[in-house]
Amino acid sequence: MKIQFLGATREVTGSSYLVANSKNHTVLVDCGLFQRSVIFEKKNFGLFDFNPQELDAVVVTHSHIDHIGRLPKLIKDGYNGKIYLTPPTFDLAGLMLEDSLGLMEDEFHHFKTPILFTEHDVIRMLGQCSTVDYKKSFSPAPGFTVTFFNAGHILGSAFILIEADGKSVIFSGDLGNTPVPLLKRISDPPRANYVVSESTYGSVLHETKPVRNQGLKEAINFVAQGRGTLIIPSFALERTQEVLYELNTLFEKKLVPQMPVYLDSPLANKVTKVFKKYISKYFNQRALETLMWDEDFFSFPGFSVSETAEESKLINQVLGPKVVIAGSGMMTGGRVLHHAKRYLNNPESMLLFVGYQVNSSLGRKILNGAKKVIIHNEFVNIRARVKALGAWSDHADSAQILKFILTAKPSAVFLTHGELKQMKGLGNSLEQQGIKVAIPKIRESFEL
Ligand SMILES: [Zn+2]
Repeated sequence: MKIQFLGATREVTGSSYLVANSKNHTVLVDCGLFQRSVIFEKKNFGLFDFNPQELDAVVVTHSHIDHIGRLPKLIKDGYNGKIYLTPPTFDLAGLMLEDSLGLMEDEFHHFKTPILFTEHDVIRMLGQCSTVDYKKSFSPAPGFTVTFFNAGHILGSAFILIEADGKSVIFSGDLGNTPVPLLKRISDPPRANYVVSESTYGSVLHETKPVRNQGLKEAINFVAQGRGTLIIPSFALERTQEVLYELNTLFEKKLVPQMPVYLDSPLANKVTKVFKKYISKYFNQRALETLMWDEDFFSFPGFSVSETAEESKLINQVLGPKVVIAGSGMMTGGRVLHHAKRYLNNPESMLLFVGYQVNSSLGRKILNGAKKVIIHNEFVNIRARVKALGAWSDHADSAQILKFILTAKPSAVFLTHGELKQMKGLGNSLEQQGIKVAIPKIRESFEL
């Protein structure tokens, strides 16, 4: 078996790995978009490092764009085979790709930037999908056996066991920060000869869990006192539903002062509908118990969704205190920028990060303490309070990744999906346990 690393090497985006067996059959694991400071950077537009027409199958870990964003391009470039994913990943992938398409078309109209794929490619891609549940082994290509397991990261997320040529390798995808508010715990991995592991937080330990709610409660109390605005830049998928679920408890149980809460994201609202479809099968016991006293735990007094741009602008007319949840999660674009421009110079307001901020994103700059930033070609002074809730990460921390890898008992590990510093920290811990570690470079291949 041979693995070639085609993305997420020493960085957190563009996940894609090509696995070949001794008979030259090939399976691609993920086909993600490279996303650094801009959403559709040049690197995405080049030719694939393999011939898409000769590829046998694609398997998908989860529906984040940095794992699926180039799938329609793969179809456009000639891939005719099947794409295997879990049922929720299929539903969510459709929404996420439609959203990317919309962003791309907007950029095209404003700046004449090139289009990576069209709606036709997305529709064809969805037509080539085949859904498979967790723990049901299948053979996507001659000589390959593949099994999905719950990765506990976002709804439908999987880590993937691939067996071929008498060897086994686990692709971690993104590992969840178990326990999380909604999803079931990550499954224990089976034994495998090799693990290709993410390392987003490879040398970081998250805050302990109880802080998760406490931080949100303090933020609401802070803006209640000063009649400010609490801005939560949020990823439409999973993070927003978790925030809504926790806000639901705080507001329904009157643990915080009542105030309007706006979900200023049509995409997040569509994603929430997919979540409701899968509650019984994919949600954990705590979430199911909440249903006993609140049959819709994504909605509460004061909550509303802003669908149109007009509705989004109306939020400005409502005096504080109030909460606005809007994308994008790393402030690289989207409606959150309009709110940031309006409220970040107000010391009574707060910007609360609940997710990972990639290097060079606006979110990371502000989190690192920038006092003045440029938004939509305007200078904005940051006088609002800025906080991050580490416990909210949807990625496992170094202890959780280590436990995952040690459970699989591999002889060697390949570290991907992380910044080099994170990889080195995790690599040292693994080597201390007698496990060989490689940190592949882009296009590097390994014969297993
Ligand atoms: Zn992810």
